[in-house]
Amino acid sequence: MVEAPAGVEGSGFFATSFDKVIGMARANSLWPLPFATSCCGIEFMATMASHYDFARFGSERPSFSPRQADLLMVMGTIAKKMGPIVKQVYQQMAEPRWVMAVGACACSGGIFDTYSVLQGIDRIVPVDVYVPGCPPRPEQIIEGLMKIQELARNESLRRRNSDEYLGLLESYNIK
Ligand code: SF4
Repeated sequence: MVEAPAGVEGSGFFATSFDKVIGMARANSLWPLPFATSCCGIEFMATMASHYDFARFGSERPSFSPRQADLLMVMGTIAKKMGPIVKQVYQQMAEPRWVMAVGACACSGGIFDTYSVLQGIDRIVPVDVYVPGCPPRPEQIIEGLMKIQELARNESLRRRNSDEYLGLLESYNIK
């Protein structure tokens, strides 16, 4: 058994701030929406399975409804024709929402430098974390999630209403 940290055992209290409590809750209950179109999606399946066990991070429940998701994970090649769908999914998600581009294709178009492939999803939606690799290993996807957790944990409660954030959305023509 691990010893309880000082202050937890016996009587006493902890003082903290509201944004730290909210940050901790958000960081440990990220519900991912897997937007998987090709091979990187298979890596995500491995990441969700028992060996790597994404559920350990509070992300047990993949959401296939944007309205009940707060982490959009785009995995795979995104054709330009699909761009508007990715954007629509993003717009249907409630704030606060985060985006992870998983794999070279989602990050930059990968090896598909062609007329039909979107050269990175950050051309249509703002991306918080890029996970490189073709495909990235499950460990990398987990590290990407931990980076998102770090962002969620430390995010100011006012950020989503800030002029900078609204300006960022406006630059993507997102209301
Ligand atoms: S990055 Fe590589 S593995 Fe991932 S979808 Fe593109 S081609 Fe497939």
